[in-house]
Amino acid sequence: MKRQRSRRQPQRTQWPDSLLRGLRAGKLRIPALKLRPGLNFSQLREGLRRLSPEQYQALSAGLQRQVQQPPAVSVRRQRATGDALLASQIARLRCLPAHPEAVLLDAAGRDRFGRQHWLQPVARRAWESMRDAAKADGISLELVSSFRSVIDQNRILARKLRHGQSLQDILRVNAPPGYSEHHTGCAIDLAVPGEPVLTEAFEGSPAFAWLLRHASRFGFRLSYPRNNPFGFVYEPWHWCYRTAAPEPPDVN
Ligand SMILES: [Zn+2]
Repeated sequence: MKRQRSRRQPQRTQWPDSLLRGLRAGKLRIPALKLRPGLNFSQLREGLRRLSPEQYQALSAGLQRQVQQPPAVSVRRQRATGDALLASQIARLRCLPAHPEAVLLDAAGRDRFGRQHWLQPVARRAWESMRDAAKADGISLELVSSFRSVIDQNRILARKLRHGQSLQDILRVNAPPGYSEHHTGCAIDLAVPGEPVLTEAFEGSPAFAWLLRHASRFGFRLSYPRNNPFGFVYEPWHWCYRTAAPEPPDVN
């Protein structure tokens, strides 16, 4: 990485210990950095210096907002590469909004498959409040999908293309990389424990009826209803947390 970046980076002591402790324990994650749990504080601080100025500002602004108010989603357009270039052209034709990738993620527990889930801190708190409120009403909700990086979305697209699926068919089910709500760290796919995941049958469950009535109280909305204008299949399982806070100022 370029050395001159460090002049624009914060003093090392500016990183809050709570952030370093969370990273060290594997409870927090910065997708842009490959940090192994268990690194000591000085190694973590050194790792954080590898963030770009834009990533640093988004992270630092997010941390400040966590103290003062719920953080808003920062705006940063993702760069498409390779196969994703055509996909992004289709995305523009379908008027899909591009979404910023989360800078800081909170561990949100494991699912029935043993997979660790990650969400933006504010979305993780909202999800847990909603899950607990549903539980109190006798409704069990299970998280089966959460943060998925733009790189992972590119991999999924490439794999499906290799297996002979057409781009049009893939993009009715998967968002073009950079246009999925999942890399914001605010989108969740929900299921009923023990029931099949990501099927339209979820629509007929008491859990779905509960979500329709109550999810908005926790900031979650159904992103892709039947006949949605974005050209996606109906996804009764996909909900996204949207903060009412204003967008942060453009970092450029
Ligand atoms: Zn989803």
